[in-house]
Amino acid sequence: MTRVFNFSSGPAVLPESVLRQAAEEMLDWHGSGMSVMEMSHRGPQFMAILDEAQSLFRELLGVPDDYRTLFLQGGAIGEMAIVPMNLLGAKTSIDFVNTGTWSSKAMSEAGRYARINEVASSAATAFDRIPAFETWRLDPDAAYVHICSNETIGGVEYHWTPDTGDVPLVADVSSNILSAPLDVTKFGLLYGGAQKNVGPAGLTLVVVRDDLLGRALPITPCAFDFAQQSDNGSMLNTPPTYAIYIAGLVFRWLKAQGGLVAIEALNLRKAGLLYDTIDASGGFYVNPVAVADRSLMNVPFRLPDARLDAPFLAEAEALGMVQLKGHRSVGGMRASIYNAMPVEGVQRLVDHMLDFARRHG
Ligand SMILES: *Cc1c(COP(=O)(O)O)cnc(C)c1O
Repeated sequence: MTRVFNFSSGPAVLPESVLRQAAEEMLDWHGSGMSVMEMSHRGPQFMAILDEAQSLFRELLGVPDDYRTLFLQGGAIGEMAIVPMNLLGAKTSIDFVNTGTWSSKAMSEAGRYARINEVASSAATAFDRIPAFETWRLDPDAAYVHICSNETIGGVEYHWTPDTGDVPLVADVSSNILSAPLDVTKFGLLYGGAQKNVGPAGLTLVVVRDDLLGRALPITPCAFDFAQQSDNGSMLNTPPTYAIYIAGLVFRWLKAQGGLVAIEALNLRKAGLLYDTIDASGGFYVNPVAVADRSLMNVPFRLPDARLDAPFLAEAEALGMVQLKGHRSVGGMRASIYNAMPVEGVQRLVDHMLDFARRHG
């Protein structure tokens, strides 16, 4: 068996120890005689798995007592419609900061339920930065302010949290959740798909402040009504049981790494290796993002000539590194280096970049 270094943007790399444990427990979880996939979601065995995953998630992220954590389905794109249905209440508009593909997608989804107010945008500079907070034209009557904390495709990340006063701040945290400590109290709601930094696709995480519950529009499906899901412990419908089990193992792994402070230090080291290589390449490799807003999770970079992309990727693959091709909307390369990407994987990529630039520069 040969494992590759997988730089996919998602579904993405998982810790090898987690996969090994899941394999060992596949046919018989803890003497139950069955796989987690085969368990009743209301039985004591799965309830123990769910409770542990919930409490580890809350502990790792430091979720305060007045916030609910929901394990749902529908993905981040689902939440882009579900969140407005739940939070609009009697309000009619939502403020959006547009930093790229995913915040644009959130705007178009929410636009079917509310008036969209683009309060700031970096479109004029090809989404290469987070617009300075002083330029945001916030509306005090908005239902909430929406940001995407890490633009997975553009590689642009907030390294600060805006203060939106009494208007709740909502963030799509799909691709940087649990990558570094986060002050949850500054947000009204966080949502994200699991398949970038948490576990398998199919699980959607929502963290919501208590006072925002109970205002869902009458058209909201019960499975997507946060208050009803909260009252039912995320079990109003069958939750994605196997994905929750794997996420729980990832949470255990993350805690064993030392939690979010330790993982952030590691993520800074990994991203630093790549950005230092790009910046020291004399223009051979280019990352277009403003230095202060560069993502620790997704590192896009271009080569001097698009005709070099294919040989760069083919040689990377021969060296055991896959999924480095950039998103079709951006081109070039993208290295996604989530929590579970080992430093050795990033070091191997850096070695390849240095060697390739020497031969083609
Ligand atoms: C991947 C991603 C999405 C899309 O998630 P789905 O699970 O496909 O709905 C949305 N937002 C961000 C920031 C992402 O990285």
